[in-house]
Amino acid sequence: MSKQGLLYLVATPIGNLGDMTPRAIDILNSVDVIAAEDTRHSGKLLQHFGIKTPCLAYHEHNERQMCDRLVQRLQAGEQIALISDAGTPLVSDPGYHLVRAVRQAGLQVVPVPGACALIAALSVSGLASDRFVFEGFLPAKSAARRQRLESLIDEMGTLIFYESTHRIESSLADMAAIFGGQRRAVVARELTKRFETIHGDSLSALLDWLAADPDQRRGEFVVLVQGALKTEGAGVDAEAARVLSILMQELPLKQAAALAAKISGTKKNELYRLGLSMADNNDVS
Ligand code: SAM
Repeated sequence: MSKQGLLYLVATPIGNLGDMTPRAIDILNSVDVIAAEDTRHSGKLLQHFGIKTPCLAYHEHNERQMCDRLVQRLQAGEQIALISDAGTPLVSDPGYHLVRAVRQAGLQVVPVPGACALIAALSVSGLASDRFVFEGFLPAKSAARRQRLESLIDEMGTLIFYESTHRIESSLADMAAIFGGQRRAVVARELTKRFETIHGDSLSALLDWLAADPDQRRGEFVVLVQGALKTEGAGVDAEAARVLSILMQELPLKQAAALAAKISGTKKNELYRLGLSMADNNDVS
């Protein structure tokens, strides 16, 4: 009986090699070839686990031409594993064109789940995890980055971004400018590695914290930002909510709501109810 062609999508660790799953090792050992984003980088991981399966390069610059070749090999009955440099393939990593082409060819794609930085960060962030939006990397230039952030102002799910050491400060500064310095956020740095740090505060306090300690600007980052508050549902406009959130930092909720009501002309009890939900959401350190 001829072998059935299969493409496995294999997650690899995002730092700690102990996160490699036994199933990932079995599959990487048993397939005919491993398609890797960077064969030199993955060579070290494979060597660590004694995996001798041949590798070929599959990255964003040869993605389209490699697709046809890999689909042909699968049609001939080969089994192929796709891995990226770290974490889950296709999550801010190559593989989308290949998976689409393989599925269009009527062949099977099999997930082999494992580490993924955004999920690891969300799970420990203390921010709402029932709804979230993954935005990957923001544009490198500030004007384009601010435009993207503006499009997310009313998004109510937790916002999740990937960021590098070069842009962590400028991205957080743009987030504070667009979402307001009072919005809660969490910086998850170097997850599963020696200098793992998970730190939550308002966006403006996070900027101060990064400015004060250059070490906190090193490494790989996931930035999570609390979603927009449910101002429409509560009948409270965004400006009144902003005034309330500032006053709540200095005053007990009852007084803050009364004062915000006078300033904004919004009903006191609506602001009080909003304040209660904000206090729940802000309970993140
Ligand atoms: N495919 C990967 C995944 O499943 O998370 C993501 C690959 S993407 C090219 C690399 C980015 O993911 C980094 O710049 C950083 O934003 C984030 N990342 C990866 N590993 C991380 C870690 N250990 N701690 C924090 N962020 C990490």
